[in-house]
Amino acid sequence: NNQITLAERPQGMPDDNTFEFVKKDVGDVKEGQILIKTLYVSVDPYMRGRMENVESYVEPFKLNEVIDGGSIGEIIESKSDQFKTGDIVTGMFGWQEYYIAGESEVRQIDPSIAPITTNLHILGMTGLTAYFGLLDIGKPKAGETVVISGAAGSVGSIVGQIAKIKGARVVGIAGSDEKVNFLKDELNFDAGINYRTTGNIKADLKHACPDGVDVYYDNVGGEISDAVMTQLNRYARIPVCGAISTYNLEEKDIGPRVQQTLIKKSALMQGFTVGNYSGRFKEGAKQLGQWLQEGKLTYRETIREGFENIPDAFLDLFRGKNIGKLLVKVGER
Ligand code: NDP
Repeated sequence: NNQITLAERPQGMPDDNTFEFVKKDVGDVKEGQILIKTLYVSVDPYMRGRMENVESYVEPFKLNEVIDGGSIGEIIESKSDQFKTGDIVTGMFGWQEYYIAGESEVRQIDPSIAPITTNLHILGMTGLTAYFGLLDIGKPKAGETVVISGAAGSVGSIVGQIAKIKGARVVGIAGSDEKVNFLKDELNFDAGINYRTTGNIKADLKHACPDGVDVYYDNVGGEISDAVMTQLNRYARIPVCGAISTYNLEEKDIGPRVQQTLIKKSALMQGFTVGNYSGRFKEGAKQLGQWLQEGKLTYRETIREGFENIPDAFLDLFRGKNIGKLLVKVGER
């Protein structure tokens, strides 16, 4: 069984020393267990946080243990009454080619509903993150302006489409012209800003948001967010979903302080994790599935191939190489 473990905790951007490739026996499948062959592995920005030994909403990864994460696999041996060989399941199998799971660790996927990979994004964690962060905290109303950073990524691309469904004017900020064109041409965003090439993000925001910003869905933090904060309207809402621009910083960056802005604008800024909404996942997944089926939502995937490329694919998130959800295909059905 090929596995990838955490060899050392990274300072700054992870590199080759962070990860180690190891080979282990798969082990024996016991009564009530299933053996899963991994098909797709999800790489996610929050995993960077788990590489550090700090208290958070999820446990840090342990040194020299398999890196944990969401995956999809096929059951190749079953000693469970609930599952049979050939069933497709999702769960936290981590960065390894095979995984022996107990029944409660996996959720079965119905491949007839949508491509199985959608369970790792639009019908899974990142779709639910978009859904609850935007609707429960952002609460966009028809005619309002919603700005999204990290807009062409897995979460951001869904946030913008849901905001359009709710009748908002949607402006996305992303890191390339190809991404901005994707937002406008394929997802019907009203405007897009390439933060890497703009000389003046504040001026671009003013131009793209003539009526100001009512909802700012923040995926990136840092200077991009500082700029958006200057354009808020009264009673603006700011779901703080992620701060990827700061995850690899060696020294914490504080940036402009926002209290006065929040006071002057009576704005609401609220951090959240998707886990806060676990009691409502069924509701969210049902609505996302319905919109997908009705053609009101679409998605893009960036798929890298090969188990050996998982660490590099993970780093691609920080290089902005992905449009939509970044996945690694590691096995064939
Ligand atoms: P994405 O698919 O958006 O991939 C990450 C993207 O971030 C890259 O494509 C890149 O796009 C952008 N990025 C990378 N570095 C920077 C930088 N320095 N400045 C600005 N943008 C950068 O990932 P996800 O959709 O999975 O996650 C998006 C955000 O949501 C992350 O911050 C993540 O931590 C957070 N998240 C939070 C959850 C929660 O429960 N609160 C759950 C899931 C995700 P570009 O080319 O535009 O720079």
